[in-house]
Amino acid sequence: MTTRQVRLNQARQVSNRLYDRGLRVFPDGTTRITVERDPVPRYAKAGRGAYLEDVDGNRLLDLNNNFTTLIHGHAYAPIVEAVASQLACGSCFANPTEYEIKLAELLVDRIPSVERVRFVNSGTEAVMFAIKAARAFTGRPAIARIEGAFHGAYDWAEIGQAGTPLTWGPPEDPLPVPLYAGVPASIADDVLVLRLNDIGGLQRLEDAADRLSCILIDPMPSRAGLIAADPEFLTALTESARRNGVLVIADEVLNLRQGFQGASARYGLTPDLVAMGKIIGGGFPIGAIGGREDVMRVFGTRQAKGSLPQGGTFSANPVSMLAGSIAMQALTKDEFDRLEQLGNQVRAGLSEVIRRHCAAFSVTGAASLFRIHPKEQPPCEFRQAFCNKAEAETLMRLHRHFLASGILLPNGAAASLSTPMGAAEMNMIVECFDDFLSQANQR
Ligand code: PMP
Repeated sequence: MTTRQVRLNQARQVSNRLYDRGLRVFPDGTTRITVERDPVPRYAKAGRGAYLEDVDGNRLLDLNNNFTTLIHGHAYAPIVEAVASQLACGSCFANPTEYEIKLAELLVDRIPSVERVRFVNSGTEAVMFAIKAARAFTGRPAIARIEGAFHGAYDWAEIGQAGTPLTWGPPEDPLPVPLYAGVPASIADDVLVLRLNDIGGLQRLEDAADRLSCILIDPMPSRAGLIAADPEFLTALTESARRNGVLVIADEVLNLRQGFQGASARYGLTPDLVAMGKIIGGGFPIGAIGGREDVMRVFGTRQAKGSLPQGGTFSANPVSMLAGSIAMQALTKDEFDRLEQLGNQVRAGLSEVIRRHCAAFSVTGAASLFRIHPKEQPPCEFRQAFCNKAEAETLMRLHRHFLASGILLPNGAAASLSTPMGAAEMNMIVECFDDFLSQANQR
């Protein structure tokens, strides 16, 4: 099937009706700010493999995959079957189950920096408890983080996430921009914002080190541009952290999908703590904190240093643990290699199309992730990746073009591949982009 053969039902009658109802019960109509709407959201009916069906009768290649979570696509049969039979035996207990040990064993076996694990229910919680663990271990309150990176909804982790040219301050001294009005000033006082790949800027980390518990870093922050941290930057950052007794927290909630051993191993980072989520739950809510045995001891009840109470009604529920184990076991080294090759194919194809059309676009990403930027040069950090109004409009046109061709391309965020995809889907994506640039040239 070529992309041009798809006929999209643009009327969205059912979605419109649902949105009207949603507006009566939810502020802004839905319950996630991240839900795309143009102008109304596209309501989902079902998902099968690489494809999503909406309530208006459209079938779309899903490159969102619930924000990169569904690495095996929708309704992955081994998980559907196992979870269905587990549900008949109970969905959550106040007691531990063997499933949590199984999933933790897999993570400890695979991920070099993970010696002990703690399960929670979301990536937000994983980042939050990793930060709390660093505070409990070091006895210090403040954190450092990378400008523009998204780390979930813990107040300290949100500072510096959403700066704009009007608010983000000078490049040599990025400001701790709060995310919303009314954030206590004391929170911003305890956050140092660094720029990705700015080695010179690490002097500020040295200067603030005696108050810093941790530096929080995603080796390829997606919202900040899906740009890789340079190995030299990671080395300098880690050395500075170690010298000053500051812990390194890798946020791999999204990027664990970059390889069998995760993202830190891939980029040469050796974190003390790792925040995980998304793919490790097999499509069910999950988060996890992993890390060095001595640091993770703060979660214990009998440890000598620090003490961090952590529970959670649904933490380590057997459904998420079981689904996660099945999803992760199916992600063998070979399967990661295959995803990597598909990613290489699509990124190379998109770049080739850009060259052929001499278009002012570029592509970033790695493994099973890619992002198209309306920028001639691939951005090297958040400020370069930031889109002005005209660029944001270009991205919206691109998003609409993909939709009209039957492909759900996240707008201004990372697109992700899933294991049910193959070369045919990669060709479909590249061909669709080719069409877009051909039409743009004719305008
Ligand atoms: N960290 C990163 C890097 C993420 O991408 C996300 C989610 N997009 C989070 C944290 C928060 O995870 P959750 O939405 O599960 O709370």
